[in-house]
Amino acid sequence: MEEAAPDVTATTAIELVQGDITQQSVDAIVNAANSSLLGGGGVDGAIHRRGGPEILAACRALRASRYGKGLPTGQAVATTAGKLDARWVIHTVGPVWSATDDRSELLASCYRESLRVADELGARTVAFPAISTGVYGWPIDDGARIAVRTVRETADVSIEVVRFVLFDKTAYDAFEAQMG
Ligand code: ADP
Repeated sequence: MEEAAPDVTATTAIELVQGDITQQSVDAIVNAANSSLLGGGGVDGAIHRRGGPEILAACRALRASRYGKGLPTGQAVATTAGKLDARWVIHTVGPVWSATDDRSELLASCYRESLRVADELGARTVAFPAISTGVYGWPIDDGARIAVRTVRETADVSIEVVRFVLFDKTAYDAFEAQMG
């Protein structure tokens, strides 16, 4: 008997929920971090507050080793999830919105690289916030478009579920409009 061929048609299911990403039970929670990896507001602040000091300690260790200059925009790196109900936090740095400079590819890279890191770790369920759409000012409709499209296009991973966790109804509706 030959071994069954891998199921190349398997796709990642996309879920939308309105809520707080720090309350999710998933393998990996993605953090909309900043390049310093040393904490900030929004999702980042919430993750460190609820996840406890272990996450910041792991981020400090990354700054002392591989990412001495900080994590570049569009890249992703994993740490422990501390007290969160997840195995890993994957930190990614979104681009700051610019009206004159098209940084869409960097935003897409955040989703792609986070999925790649999650896949390498063996994560099957991943929660994402709407990266760059808070303090970094990305318009939510366009942020949602890039997020959904990039996850759909990232086919070469074994992630079973991607859950977008949207903080408010406006963000939820923007993502829902992309799901058709
Ligand atoms: P960025 O600096 O990448 O813009 P922010 O954390 O400021 O990141 O915001 C990203 C998105 O996450 C925004 O849409 C914001 O409303 C939302 N957000 C803020 N806190 C949470 C949370 N606890 N859970 C889920 N989403 C959140």
